[in-house]
Amino acid sequence: MSVLSESLSLHKIVKKHYLSLSKGTECQVTYVWIDETKENLRCKTRTLSGEPAGIRDIPEWSDTWSDGDLIEVTLVPVRMFRDPFTLDPNKLVLCEVFDSRHVPIGSNQRSPCVKVMGEVKEFQPWFGMEQEYMLFGLDGKPFGWPPQGLQFTRVPCAVGINKVYGRDICICHYRACLYAGVKIDGTNAEALASQWEFQVGPCEGTELGDNLWMARYILHRVCEDFGVVASLDAKPIEDSIYTSGCHINFSTKEMRGEGGLQYIEEAIRRLSNRHSQHIRVYDPHGGLDNMRRLTSQRATSSFHDFSTATARRNVSVRIPAHVSCRGCKYFEDRRPAANCDPYSVMRALVETCLLGATGENDDEGKETMAS
Ligand code: ADP
Ligand code: MN
Ligand code: MN
Ligand code: MN
Repeated sequence: MSVLSESLSLHKIVKKHYLSLSKGTECQVTYVWIDETKENLRCKTRTLSGEPAGIRDIPEWSDTWSDGDLIEVTLVPVRMFRDPFTLDPNKLVLCEVFDSRHVPIGSNQRSPCVKVMGEVKEFQPWFGMEQEYMLFGLDGKPFGWPPQGLQFTRVPCAVGINKVYGRDICICHYRACLYAGVKIDGTNAEALASQWEFQVGPCEGTELGDNLWMARYILHRVCEDFGVVASLDAKPIEDSIYTSGCHINFSTKEMRGEGGLQYIEEAIRRLSNRHSQHIRVYDPHGGLDNMRRLTSQRATSSFHDFSTATARRNVSVRIPAHVSCRGCKYFEDRRPAANCDPYSVMRALVETCLLGATGENDDEGKETMAS
């Protein structure tokens, strides 16, 4: 065991003593927000005199932001969770970021998402996302991989110490999310050993984005405790055909009801006319990450062309076999990269499938498309 990992595990034992100290009625609230990179999270904690009953009891706060200049931004609490690290009554609170004039700042894609979801409320749009991630050691190498590289077959959902690395992270993250009140609905091992997936959903509207971002925050914190790093890079191993995505599953009230398949097919027809616009918002770098990822190899589709099929995974949009059998439920857009912003992805889907777009060849574009 290296000196570094020894001292990491020592900290965890010593920490237990301090967390067992009583602390009166004060409540520790950790503010969590998306920073200017559009993919990294930050947090800081403050003491409130009592336990907040709801989000309205948690005051706004401020932080400094480097946007060329150092500017002051306002953190506005939007959704509260239980803190699975320091336990009840402490809270984790997801925040939106605004500038000094109370305008949502560039990386704040939640604000426009809330607005669009308000316009399509009667459709009752549900979303579920499948977050894939890859674990790395502090040395920057894939966590647990033998020095000679991987020798075994790469299959998802594998079992065995010689096939998957880091299951403890997956298990602990799952439990921590359930404690927090994050709507996690499953996990599985992925194709690269030390690559994992968790699913969040189904949730209505913006709530999905809030839950996914908090699940990402909890993942990074659990990884701190284990001394590993979770990467949401779309292509974590540059010379491998295996990649990390964040598939989004989408349905409306009509799609979920009897005869829903015709609404699913209509939505997919609309999506087929706006492929390039969606690709631009399905990673935080305007499509550059997906250009590396979507190579048509190994369960990925083409970066350039739209495709769809039932019960096949190397396509842009898939109708799951069970959906085709029952004739209703939901469809899956497999294009979002692991580091995508769920608010932008949900907004793009709703704008194309439910608002405005006629579905005729308008791929060149609506100005309002999420960016
Ligand atoms: P896959 O077969 O693509 O690996 P998963 O089982 O990993 O699928 O994920 C399925 C996702 O679909 C989950 O995130 C779940 O929340 C979501 N989901 C289930 N039902 C619905 C629905 N009616 N509308 C939208 N999403 C749904
Ligand atoms: Mn999945
Ligand atoms: Mn997967
Ligand atoms: Mn999927």
